[in-house]
Amino acid sequence: SSSKSSGDVKKYTVATDSNFKPFEYLNPITGELEGFDIDIIKEIAKRAEFEVEFETMDFDGLLAGMQSGRYPIGVAGMSITEKRKESIDFSIPYYDSGLILMVPENSNIQSIDDVSRKKIGSRQGSTSQTYLKEFTSAKVEAFPEIVTAYLDVKEGRLDGALYDLPNVKNYIATEGENKLKTVGEVLQGESYGIAFSKGSEIVDDANKALQSMIDDGTYAELFEKYFGE
Ligand code: GLN
Repeated sequence: SSSKSSGDVKKYTVATDSNFKPFEYLNPITGELEGFDIDIIKEIAKRAEFEVEFETMDFDGLLAGMQSGRYPIGVAGMSITEKRKESIDFSIPYYDSGLILMVPENSNIQSIDDVSRKKIGSRQGSTSQTYLKEFTSAKVEAFPEIVTAYLDVKEGRLDGALYDLPNVKNYIATEGENKLKTVGEVLQGESYGIAFSKGSEIVDDANKALQSMIDDGTYAELFEKYFGE
C-alpha cells in the first residue's frame, strides 16, 4: 500500500468514500473525485511531501479496511470515536459535525423523541446507525449509501433519516425539491479526523501540515469553497 515512486517520495493509497457530499463525491460531469476532504488530503500530501492515489468504496468497507490496516490513510468525514481509536489512529480534528434528523416536509415528527417504532434510515457502519440502535427504539434501516435513505424519505418509504448535519443540509439544498426538512437539535457533537492505520508513521507530519494550513488561512479558504453561503 506504500511504495516508492520518483526519487524517495512515498506514495500512499488513500481510501475514500464514494458519496459523502460535500466531503467526497464524484463530479457527475467529469467523473473526477472531488470534495473538501480530497482538497485537504492533497494539500497535506504536498506539504508533508508524499504522493497519494485514491481508492473509493462504501463507508463500511472503508471502516473495515482501516481497522484491518489494509489502507495507510482514509478520508471520509470520519467521526473520531473512542471505539474507532482502538484500531485506527486519527489526525487532529478538522471539522465539527453532529447528527440531525431529516423528515418529509409534512411529517409530524418533531424530534428524535418521536421516532419510536418509526422507520428511520441510516448508513451501514456509521455513527448514526450506532446512535439509533443505542438511544432510540426506531426501526433502523441502514444502507450502504446514505442517499438511498434520503430518497426513501423523499418518496415516503421511510419516516425519516438520521445523519451528519453537513451532508443532510447539502442533500436538502440540492436534491430536496422542497419535500424535506430537518427537525430538532443537532444530536451528539462529533469531530471528523483523517484516519491512519494504527501506529502509522505519517500522523505527525500530516498533523503539522494540517496545522500549518489552519494557521496560514488555507483551511479557511477551502472551508469557504465548500461551505460558504
Ligand atoms: N461521520 C460519519 C461516521 O463517521 C459518517 C461518515 C460517512 O458517511 N462518510 O460514521
